[in-house]
Amino acid sequence: MIENQSGEDYLEAILRLSAVKKDVHSVEVARELGVSKPAVTKAMRVLGQKGYVSVVDNHIHLTQEGKAYAESVYERHRTLTAFLVGLGVDADTAEADACRIEHVLSEVTFSAIKKFMDGNAADK
Ligand SMILES: [Zn+2]
Repeated sequence: MIENQSGEDYLEAILRLSAVKKDVHSVEVARELGVSKPAVTKAMRVLGQKGYVSVVDNHIHLTQEGKAYAESVYERHRTLTAFLVGLGVDADTAEADACRIEHVLSEVTFSAIKKFMDGNAADK
């Protein structure tokens, strides 16, 4: 696991970007997260050492392990956003809050929310 939350944000951003295009560049990740390019380079070095990304010629790729991790973070993101919107929170706030909550929520609480959401979806 990554001890700092921003590592998870980076993985999530790379996953989102790589869904729309094949090659993800560090400048795009910087734009997506509102950080500097050197900050991205530094983060990629850390994530690379952990085996989550590989960087070749400024092109960032998720490793298999990195992709699985990013997908679990993104699943939390989507579930929590939907949960908050369901409570009546506006979409922008829900999205921004979900992106913070996703890093700190315990697995127990998250599965409870997920179960609740799945149950609600099944009712419809
Ligand atoms: Zn997020």
